[in-house]
Amino acid sequence: MVRPASALKKSSGKKPQDLKGLKASLLAWYDQTARSLPWRIAPEDRRKGKIPDPYKVWLSEIMLQQTTVVTVKPYYQNFLARWPTVKALAVATEDQVLHAWQGLGYYARARNLHACAQEIAKRKGVWPQQEEGLLALPGVGPYTAAAIAAIAFDQSAVPVDGNVERVMARLFAVTTSLPEAKSELRDLARSFAFGSRPGDFAQAVMDLGATVCTPRQPKCDLCPWQKSCRAFALGLAAELPHRAAKTAKLTRYAYVFWLISPEGKIWIRRRPPTGLLGGMMEFPSTPWVTTQDSPDKAQSAVALATPLLSPWELMPGTVRHVFTHFILELRVLKGRARRTTTDEKWVEPDHFSELALPSLMKKVARHAIGSASLTPQKHRK
Ligand code: SF4
Repeated sequence: MVRPASALKKSSGKKPQDLKGLKASLLAWYDQTARSLPWRIAPEDRRKGKIPDPYKVWLSEIMLQQTTVVTVKPYYQNFLARWPTVKALAVATEDQVLHAWQGLGYYARARNLHACAQEIAKRKGVWPQQEEGLLALPGVGPYTAAAIAAIAFDQSAVPVDGNVERVMARLFAVTTSLPEAKSELRDLARSFAFGSRPGDFAQAVMDLGATVCTPRQPKCDLCPWQKSCRAFALGLAAELPHRAAKTAKLTRYAYVFWLISPEGKIWIRRRPPTGLLGGMMEFPSTPWVTTQDSPDKAQSAVALATPLLSPWELMPGTVRHVFTHFILELRVLKGRARRTTTDEKWVEPDHFSELALPSLMKKVARHAIGSASLTPQKHRK
């Protein structure tokens, strides 16, 4: 019988008794259907004793945060070809790592990746095996620590991301909205942290969420958990998890300076090492504020910092970029420097591709140059 959602008590979240049976049925499904991924040891190879390389597990998990498998594959392969070991990555420069990371977004991850590689190199390549030790490494949060512990070291851990939350919300018919339901869903997922094959189980739930228990139109007919799934029984599969209404994103505004030297080079600088796009190169701009500032104010701000004397020309149009928590709208001011100083960095547009320029700044360059000569980047949130 299908009951309407309103008839459910909030957060029913009742566990089926047979967690052991659920785990066994999911592992049997995984043995038959596991996705072949470049960083994965197939279940039959694990049974033959093949051991995952923690470096590869860690690298893939950091790359997969907020990013799809399809996007990550070429980056993962390129990183492994350039830096086949954690020690090799540790001796790369931060600029090399940021450059190789271009297009994956969330550049703090790349800086932490490099810092973490250096930390493991200091430990002579020995990784912590428990979640607690992994959590102390740069850039390793609870999800990644649990994923590495389970997949690389077969520790009893269940990594919980949005996919796993969705599967748990449905399996146990948890009707409390996200984000309030997060801790309940995490506890439900962790109730599977027992018995053998924790690494395969972690990857099996990931596969189930990615291929069967998908956000829209879950393929319940293919699901090994269908008989026990409370959301399926209640006709709520596609409806869960519920989410609290999103608040509208704030828009920030700024003027960005496209300053051309007498030799045709463009003024560029490095952002501070921490914070949004930290350590990346940028075209200088006014602060990103929530009200539109006047170009006059912006001009006087930059005139103090550069040898610029020519008037600015406001270019038509805006550059819009969507970050996770806000939208940025940039207007471009074009100007010519009469002279340059060695305190400033000037780069020919032809050499932009050699810089760690984030997608936002590539958009600015395309806007200012008015061409599509730079490699288009996927718009990331
Ligand atoms: Fe998800 Fe459907 Fe499987 Fe339930 S039966 S876990 S809703 S795919």
